[in-house]
Amino acid sequence: MGKKGLLYEGKAKKVYETEDQDQLIVSYKDDATAFNGLKKGAIEGKGKINNRISNHLMKKLEDKGIKTHLIEEINDTDTIVRRVCIVPLEVIVRNIAAGSLSKRLGLSEGTKLKKTVLEYCYKNDELGDPLVNEYHIDTLELATAKELGQISSMALQINQILTAFLQEVHIELIDFKVEFGRTAAGDIILADEISPDTCRFWDSRTGEKLDKDRFRRDLGGVEDAYEEVLRRLMGE
Ligand code: UDP
Repeated sequence: MGKKGLLYEGKAKKVYETEDQDQLIVSYKDDATAFNGLKKGAIEGKGKINNRISNHLMKKLEDKGIKTHLIEEINDTDTIVRRVCIVPLEVIVRNIAAGSLSKRLGLSEGTKLKKTVLEYCYKNDELGDPLVNEYHIDTLELATAKELGQISSMALQINQILTAFLQEVHIELIDFKVEFGRTAAGDIILADEISPDTCRFWDSRTGEKLDKDRFRRDLGGVEDAYEEVLRRLMGE
């Protein structure tokens, strides 16, 4: 399966059409941005690493019954996925306070949350991806109530599966963002990526950050951290 026209270029990925109208090729880039594009840079080797990490985690989720867009990894940076219409929501799942939640609610980073917290942001660059609730989602018709029910239940299941799996390799899943898509048949499936760009991973023994916060906060060792996550997932 080869790439046809470029359909979309995002901050970290390019998406191409293929000969099959139900399939796309996602190509992961080394480019990194943070703070709504204000901070730009590149993380050497990130494209390859995120391609592999995301596919590995999606396979684990598929094994546990979560439907995802993953079809087949075709080379280091590229993967064939099912074509979906992305639901314009960033679905954020949090186990431990960090990042914007810590700022917004005054909870110090690392505070264990009594219960898993689910948040939605409206994917809209011009508006800066604002936080929205069920009422906003309904008013803006971003998803139906039924779809949102499926999305929230899948997000919580994904959290349970990933938390357990990552614990085995001494990674604590602090929080993460997922996106969902609608298939032509109207089913909701997991899309986009799951990687150190979209999750907070802390080493459960040392507390060391193994994710994009190393880039956001200029902590150094960004490439090494991404590689370390991949190594652990591969059991090396
Ligand atoms: N996240 C993401 N893309 C975004 C915003 C957040 O992948 O556009 C992820 C982020 O990596 C973290 C989680 O969602 O794992 C929660 O992020 P938060 O709201 O704390 O925002 P941040 O502090 O990253 O601005």
